[in-house]
Amino acid sequence: MTDCVFCRIIARQHAADIEYEDDAVLAFKDIYPKAPVHLLIVPKRHIASVMALAPGDAEVVGRCVLAAKSLGEAKGFAERGYRLRLNCGPEGGQVVYHLHVHFLAGTRPSGV
Ligand code: 5GP
Ligand code: ZN
Repeated sequence: MTDCVFCRIIARQHAADIEYEDDAVLAFKDIYPKAPVHLLIVPKRHIASVMALAPGDAEVVGRCVLAAKSLGEAKGFAERGYRLRLNCGPEGGQVVYHLHVHFLAGTRPSGV
């Protein structure tokens, strides 16, 4: 059994509110939302972080961004917009070491 919580969510060994799934990507609600809509979009294959990316991961990273676009449209934010965020490593604020894109919507960010 893996000790990666997002791998456990992908394997349905850990509960999550799943909002999107395809062959390469899963998206689910963040357990501690920082915006009215806060989803995490993850590759199904374990990749620890942006720092661990290899050239062959380009497609799955693109698929995560395309999943964000689909979620933005499905949730009514295609015009209003949303924020996508990747926290990378300790000084980037990354806590869970399974690559994830934060999808944050429904609030206007104040800074970068
Ligand atoms: P990071 O700081 O690594 O970019 O973000 C990790 C995110 O994962 C945090 O926003 C945190 O709330 C979320 N998170 C951590 N554990 C769980 C969990 O077990 N389930 C869900 N749905 N989200 C989690
Ligand atoms: Zn993982």
